[in-house]
Amino acid sequence: MDTYDVVVVGGGPAGEVVAGRAVGSGLTAVVVEADAVGGECSYRACVPSKALLRPGAARADARSVDGARQTVTAALDPARVLARRDRFTGRGDDTGQADWLDGAGIALVRGHGRLAGARRVRVTGADGTVRTLRARRAVVLCTGTEPALPPVDGLDRIGVWTNRQATTADAVPERLVVIGGGVVACEMATAWRSLGSSVTLLVRDQALLTGWEPCAGEEVTRGLGDLGVTIRFGVSAVRVARDGATRTVTVETDDGTALVCDEVLAAVGRRPRTADLGLDSVGLRPGDWLAVDDTCRVTAVDGDWLYAVGDVNRRAPLTHMAKYQARACAAAVAERAAGRPAVTGGRQPWSAEADRFAAPQAVFTRPEVASVGLTERAAREAGLAVRAVEYRVDDVAGAALHADDYRGLAKLVVDESRGVVVGCTLTGPMATELIHTATVAVVGEVPLERLWHAVPAFPTVSEVWLRLLEAYGL
Ligand SMILES: Cc1cc2nc3c(=O)[nH]c(=O)nc-3n(C[C@H](O)[C@H](O)[C@H](O)COP(=O)(O)OP(=O)(O)OC[C@H]3O[C@@H](n4cnc5c(N)ncnc54)[C@H](O)[C@@H]3O)c2cc1C
Repeated sequence: MDTYDVVVVGGGPAGEVVAGRAVGSGLTAVVVEADAVGGECSYRACVPSKALLRPGAARADARSVDGARQTVTAALDPARVLARRDRFTGRGDDTGQADWLDGAGIALVRGHGRLAGARRVRVTGADGTVRTLRARRAVVLCTGTEPALPPVDGLDRIGVWTNRQATTADAVPERLVVIGGGVVACEMATAWRSLGSSVTLLVRDQALLTGWEPCAGEEVTRGLGDLGVTIRFGVSAVRVARDGATRTVTVETDDGTALVCDEVLAAVGRRPRTADLGLDSVGLRPGDWLAVDDTCRVTAVDGDWLYAVGDVNRRAPLTHMAKYQARACAAAVAERAAGRPAVTGGRQPWSAEADRFAAPQAVFTRPEVASVGLTERAAREAGLAVRAVEYRVDDVAGAALHADDYRGLAKLVVDESRGVVVGCTLTGPMATELIHTATVAVVGEVPLERLWHAVPAFPTVSEVWLRLLEAYGL
């Protein structure tokens, strides 16, 4: 049996960082990976989706400035856009990431890992060979999620697109129907529409991006409409079938209509990849999300040995937060290995507490949307006495200089009892870059009177911060 201090199951962003930080603190670590080192993020999620979105955004940026607009007359070149995406993903070739593990002194065992009781992981290789790994200090489950499919008759028989096909396809479908109204649905609708697809979004709810500030969904709805995407709110697909001869798909909806398209993308959420992870061997239920404390220790299992990091714990399903949790988890494991308890609650390096109050999220639609912290509604529901202020970013000089048709909104949620920002939502060009300023304010709990002295440069879009503080009354 091979023994390591830390056995990591899943080599996505979470697993790579846990292992890297563990080795950096003097522990030994092995990563078990069933598919490609780098995980969903590198090959079928963040990286390819942003690679598909960037050319359309760059084109739109140029076309938003008079004098430049007139020079950009052609549509995107899909073949080049897809080839550029492939340069980022290597079409799933993980040699570079596997080499990184090797260079960092992290062992890699390829195969499907399953818990086999406390501190043991049994790995089944592609050739059926089985190897058991033992963890001296910790087993860290970083197995991520897989797409959840909506209950639509026939969906499992048509070769439905999930995030995997939507980010790796080699041809642009003429007509794409997207089921869903969340981040993945909005981004992929934007990307494929920019590449020439005729796109229809079927949204069960009455708004996009529910859970965000309402202005986020409203702005993205308008932006998708401007791009020529058809959005049907309050409509669900009930049945789909692919024609054997034409290969077209007919989508029947619950309002009695039918749509014909070439591909259907299901983007309605994720479920944890825990069904075949040996959870029952340690008293957990297969298929469940793994609840953890701030050090990412699985709360339902006794002892200090089982952790779950990244999407699989459902705390903040984003790559940067997965890596943040990974840094915290590795620090906690090292701390406990040194005989110290790794108590949380005071922003220690082993505490991933920002998950709960300051997770930033960027949506690369047109307009872009970004947020950090609590929405006004969530803050009120949490019992905070908050006041929200809004400002139109287009009224900032730097924004008007940036783009002739700049359109954006900024909303701050201020905890009145402490005089600090607890949430911020931005829409418009560069919102995804601007949000980090808000993250610093939220995490730093910077009093507004102090923030007043953080003077944004003229003429930048960041001057919206000054306007927001003035709107608040400073
Ligand atoms: C279309 C799309 C776009 C996204 N865009 C963004 C974005 O722009 N920014 C952002 O922050 N987040 C984005 N996300 C979310 C992001 O992809 C995830 O938060 C991130 O991948 C989570 O990392 P992870 O390591 O937890 O899991 P994953 O990346 O899913 O990695 C899990 C790894 O574990 C392996 N594995 C699973 N089970 C086993 C097993 N039993 N044995 C061995 N190996 C196993 C898998 O093969 C995989 O490599 C996007 C998601 C989607 C779907």
